[in-house]
Amino acid sequence: MKTVLITGANKSIGFETAKQLLQQGYYVFLGCRDIKKGEQAINQLKSAGLTEVELIEIDVDNIESIKAAGELLGQKTKVLDVLINNAGISGSMQNALETDISVFKQVFETNFFGVITVTQTFINLLRQSPEPRIVNVTSGLGSLALHNDPTWKYYSVKPAGYVSSKAALNAYTIVLANNLQGTPFKVNAVDPGYTATDFNHHSGPGTVPDAAARVVKAATLGADGPTGYFFSDDNAPETGISPW
Ligand code: NAP
Repeated sequence: MKTVLITGANKSIGFETAKQLLQQGYYVFLGCRDIKKGEQAINQLKSAGLTEVELIEIDVDNIESIKAAGELLGQKTKVLDVLINNAGISGSMQNALETDISVFKQVFETNFFGVITVTQTFINLLRQSPEPRIVNVTSGLGSLALHNDPTWKYYSVKPAGYVSSKAALNAYTIVLANNLQGTPFKVNAVDPGYTATDFNHHSGPGTVPDAAARVVKAATLGADGPTGYFFSDDNAPETGISPW
């Protein structure tokens, strides 16, 4: 049975990703920063008959929490097949000039530095898998190429902290995929699409199951699947591959 760790999995896209992977027979470590919320999520899955799941407390803003989660997971399994860096925050709609630096730092802490620390912490367990997969959940708003295209449907949407943090995450994904070339790893960034969740006060047109299915697709790539790509069905409906 393949194992997967998903951060920020107590609700929304992370939770639904867990559900879909459980339905595909994966053993899920449900990463949550709040144990109470995590237990509620686990109960919901178990009462739907999805039992191969357990809670891992992990706050991606907190190095000690990530290290503790790494040690705990190392005691529970010798192999991690899939890491999904899903936890993310929006900050708020921010202007490049007036936004306080503390907002940038907070958004980067979760969306960028958290992903790096989590990836570095779990890489040795991932290396034990014959087909390791890393999925970084990014956003279409992380595409620098599209932000420079006035015809892009989201051209006017430019929250400075969020855009910068996801563009940085994309850059890290490219470098990570390159560093792991020649190994069985597949490392990709996935835009789940503009989706109705708490993240955007349920304003998005997309559904959570569709968003999670995009993440699941990258998490379950076969040996001949691509690595070092930015997948976005929203921004590239024909190819599914977004420009960086
Ligand atoms: P959401 O409804 O706000 O859920 C975010 C999840 O991340 C929650 O479980 C939250 O936990 C968790 N989280 C936040 N900060 C964390 C931290 N420091 N440590 C651990 N967990 C943390 O968001 P979503 O819509 O599902 O978004 C999931 C991912 O998709 C994010 O990376 C987001 O940037 C990306 N995305 C979303 C959209 C969209 O339209 N929804 C579009 C493009 C990309 P709590 O419940 O404890 O707060």
